[in-house]
Amino acid sequence: MACAASEERMMLAEAEGLGGVTLCACGTVHLSVGAVTVRLAPEAFLQAVKMCQQAVQQLTLEGLLQAMSPQVNSTLH
Ligand SMILES: [Zn+2]
Repeated sequence: MACAASEERMMLAEAEGLGGVTLCACGTVHLSVGAVTVRLAPEAFLQAVKMCQQAVQQLTLEGLLQAMSPQVNSTLH
């Protein structure tokens, strides 16, 4: 999965100030965050996305738990 800089890339998604996702002509997905670029096979990229979705769910869950913590509730009552 060594991609040459000359290879054509298609922009799939872009987040300003963060990075982006490009699809290389060879079929490799390039995930760029800051100065780091991770090259992944499409299957691995899907797995990474699922992993991140799971992480987001956990984060949301943690956030909800924090909001519903006894300390916060006691200040509301
Ligand atoms: Zn490539």
